[in-house]
Amino acid sequence: MCIFCKIVNKEIPAKIIYEDENTLAFLDINPRSKGHTLVIPKEHYETFDELPEETAVNLTKTIKKVVNILKSLNPDGYNILNNNKPIAGQEVPHVHFHIIPRYNDEKEAVIKFSEPVNVDLDEVSKELNIE
Ligand code: 5GP
Ligand code: ZN
Repeated sequence: MCIFCKIVNKEIPAKIIYEDENTLAFLDINPRSKGHTLVIPKEHYETFDELPEETAVNLTKTIKKVVNILKSLNPDGYNILNNNKPIAGQEVPHVHFHIIPRYNDEKEAVIKFSEPVNVDLDEVSKELNIE
């Protein structure tokens, strides 16, 4: 059983900040900022595309609730992040969204994307069958 399923089953402890029938939100054990929270569906899916639509909707509703709960920490902004598969930085194979409050006095608040690469947008458009 994956580590987040164990948290859902209360087999390992976590600082839970919100819970309902379908979703759970708890503090990240290695916070990148004060209030860094993970939001997960209780059911185990590895990646976002695998989620049934209703589960994705429930997860989104919980993300919004958690953003509101975290307002009590008075952040100046926040990131919402979801990594899918190891190549994209996913370490725990149970879908999760990071909510990372950001504060004006942080040294490295901005999450860095990888460098821009040379991709021909016309070629991509062809592959996607768009104009
Ligand atoms: P990923 O790299 O998969 O997007 O993020 C996984 C996150 O899960 C990391 O930020 C990591 O600190 C967090 N994490 C890993 N194991 C545990 C745990 O047992 N408890 C909690 N609360 N967070 C965890
Ligand atoms: Zn799991």
